Amino acid sequence: MLLSVIIPCFNEEKVIELTYAELAKQMAQHSIDAELIFIDDGSRDKTPAILKSLGEKDSNVKYICFSRNFGKESAMLAGLKYAAGDCAVIMDADLQHPPEVIPLMLEKYKEGYDQVIAKRNRAGDAAHKSFFARSYYKLVNSLVDVKMEDGVGDFRLLSRKAINALTDLNEYNRFSKGLFSWIGFKTTKIEYENQSRAAGETKWSFKNLLQYGIDGIISFNNKPLRFCFVFGFIAIIVGLLYLIIMLVNIIINGIDAPGYFTTIFIIALFGGVQLISIGVIGEYIGRIYYEVKRRPHFLVEETNATPFE
Ligand code: UDP
Ligand code: MG
Repeated sequence: MLLSVIIPCFNEEKVIELTYAELAKQMAQHSIDAELIFIDDGSRDKTPAILKSLGEKDSNVKYICFSRNFGKESAMLAGLKYAAGDCAVIMDADLQHPPEVIPLMLEKYKEGYDQVIAKRNRAGDAAHKSFFARSYYKLVNSLVDVKMEDGVGDFRLLSRKAINALTDLNEYNRFSKGLFSWIGFKTTKIEYENQSRAAGETKWSFKNLLQYGIDGIISFNNKPLRFCFVFGFIAIIVGLLYLIIMLVNIIINGIDAPGYFTTIFIIALFGGVQLISIGVIGEYIGRIYYEVKRRPHFLVEETNATPFE
């Protein structure tokens, strides 16, 4: 049985050798037959050079260097497409996903599970970050059709069935947390202690996270569009009621001129509603635009591996 370990790396020169050493140690200790697939997501530091030298030293190390930074979603997809294993584990390069968990995941896999999710607790995370994350998952789960869980990241084992299902989903706007949940299959969870980054810095700014958050809501259904429709409908009803009341008032009391405030108020209110609605529609059209272009998810500049099948 072959295990593929998929590790997206973006500017991880400080930690990558340590990660490799830890992984190699775990694989040897538990005599797991594994290939380590490192995806260099267009790093601007020494990451690609380090990966190449690891590849020369160890024939189990495969590297895929992208032509530029395509994002973690694309890097994970590349890993899944190149994975030759009977199952694959996706993990971060910074040792926040402890390699010791992998043998435990494999045990579950052998029990017949297709997805083994490693769930972390949020101990030690920046307080504001975990607060936002928790609130975000509450919001998303109320909006979206698939269930997404807080503390469940991309660290998971996938069987060959699950890998094939994921690589067959060819959408351009990928939101893995949703996709993992969408494919289904027999899924189980194991818990591990939250780890902080071994070295280097996080690649996620608040702006990235916000962008990712919007993706999570928009890529998974059209409820926001429906929300616009409902809101617009309510606005029309309220507007009509207002009109009737005013009309009756005019018939009874005659026209009284100072209507300036109310006019401006209504214009401003509905201007806002329209702008929001157009924005929501724009989000979807933007996504459709990217989908129809059918561009590849990533471009490979250099690799010592070949895509599976
Ligand atoms: N990553 C990537 N491409 C990117 C950003 C991040 O491949 O554009 C990788 C990064 O190298 C790491 C993982 O995704 O292996 C998670 O990133 P990070 O640790 O910075 O995120 P955090 O753990 O802070 O959420
Ligand atoms: Mg990290």
